[in-house]
Amino acid sequence: MLKTIAGFDRIGEENAFAVLARATELAGQGRDIINLGIGQPDFKTPEHIVEAAVKALRDGHHGYTPANGIAPLREAVSADLLNRHGVETDPGNVLVVPGGKVTMFMAILMFGEPGAEILYPDPGFPIYRSMIEFTGARPVPVPIREENDFAFSAEETLSLITDRTRLLILNSPANPTGGVTPRAEIEKLVAGLDRHPDVAILSDEIYSQMTYDGAEHVSLLTFEAIRDRLILLDGWSKTYAMTGWRMGFSLWPDQLMDKARKLAVNAWSCVNAPAQFGALAALTGPQTAVGDMVREFDARRKVTVGGLNAIEGVTCRTPLGAFYAYPNIKNTGWKAKELASALLEQAGVAVIGGPDFGILSEGYIRLSYANSTENIIKALARIENLLENNQGA
Ligand code: PLP
Repeated sequence: MLKTIAGFDRIGEENAFAVLARATELAGQGRDIINLGIGQPDFKTPEHIVEAAVKALRDGHHGYTPANGIAPLREAVSADLLNRHGVETDPGNVLVVPGGKVTMFMAILMFGEPGAEILYPDPGFPIYRSMIEFTGARPVPVPIREENDFAFSAEETLSLITDRTRLLILNSPANPTGGVTPRAEIEKLVAGLDRHPDVAILSDEIYSQMTYDGAEHVSLLTFEAIRDRLILLDGWSKTYAMTGWRMGFSLWPDQLMDKARKLAVNAWSCVNAPAQFGALAALTGPQTAVGDMVREFDARRKVTVGGLNAIEGVTCRTPLGAFYAYPNIKNTGWKAKELASALLEQAGVAVIGGPDFGILSEGYIRLSYANSTENIIKALARIENLLENNQGA
C-alpha cells in the first residue's frame, strides 16, 4: 500500500461534476435530462474570441509564454480592472492562471497548515473547504444566511477571526446562493479588518459582471486599506462563456506576487498560449455579448424564481447575482440530497443538494438557470410534479 500525505484523507471534491457525469450517462441512455446542475453558461464563446485563439495558433504561438502570462494580456487585465472598478493596478501583480479555481488552490496552499484557521463562506464553493482541509488548517465556516438574502454579515465574519486566522475567503456575487453583499456591509467588514492586519483576504469575484435589479457589485479591490493583503480572483469562465478554456486571472499584493509566480512555474509553467490570445480578445474586443448574456440570464432568473415560489413547500429568495437560485425546500419534507437524487433519477432534472456546498446547507437545493427558458419551465413542472406525487424520503 503506498502511503500518501494525510491531506488526501481529507480532500473533498465538487459534486457538481459527479452530477454532470450521471446526467450525461442518463442522457446517453436516451433519457430526457434537463441539466440545471453544473454552473456554466449555456452560450457559446463569442466568435471573435474563438477566432483570436485560432489565429494565434496559425501565427505560430505554440510555445511557452512567461509563467505569469503574456504581457499584453496582463496589461489588458489591468485596464479591465481600471475600467470596471476604477482602480489602478500594476500588470506586474497580475497572474494569468488556468481557471479561476486555481487562484483559490494557490491562496489556500499559501496560508493553510496545521494550527492555522481559514474562514470561508458556508454555503459556498465546495473547493474552499476541501482545500483548507487538505492543507491541515482548520476550516471555519462563516454562515451565509437566507434571512440576510445570502449576503455575508460583516459582524459575524469579524467575530470568527482569532489570532490563528490566516486567510478570509469572501465571495460576492455568490455561488450557490446568488447572494450579493451590499456596499455598507463590505465597508463595515473592511473597517473591522483594520484590527486584524495579519489576515490575508481572498475575494472570489468570478461572477462580478453578473448582477441584476440594479444590485451593485462592490470589488474588495476598491479598498485601499486592504490592498497590501488582498488576493483578487476573477477570470473569463463565466463572463465570456469560456469554462472549458481554463482561463482565469488573479491579482496578488506585492508581498505575495513572487511566491504566486513560483507556484505557477512549479505547477504548470504557463497557461495555454492560444487560449491567452483568446482571453486578450475577450477583454479588448466588443463587450456586447456579455450584456446580452446577462440580460438573458436575468429573464431566466425571473422565470426560475417565480416558478419555484409557485411550488408548494418551496420558497426562493430573489438572487441578485450569478446564475443560481437557491430555494428553501424545508417544508417539502425532503432532505436536499435525496431530493436532488430523486429529481435526477426519476424526473430527469439535474440540480445540486445544498449539503454539497457546506455543512450548514441542509434544506436547500441549487438550480443553475444557465439553460433555456423552455427547459427551465419544463424542469419546474417536473419538480412540482415530483413533489406533489411523493412524500419526502
Ligand atoms: N469561484 C466560484 C465561486 C465558482 O462558482 C467557480 C466555478 O464554478 C469558480 C470560482 C471557478 O471558476 P473556473 O471554472 O474559472 O475555475
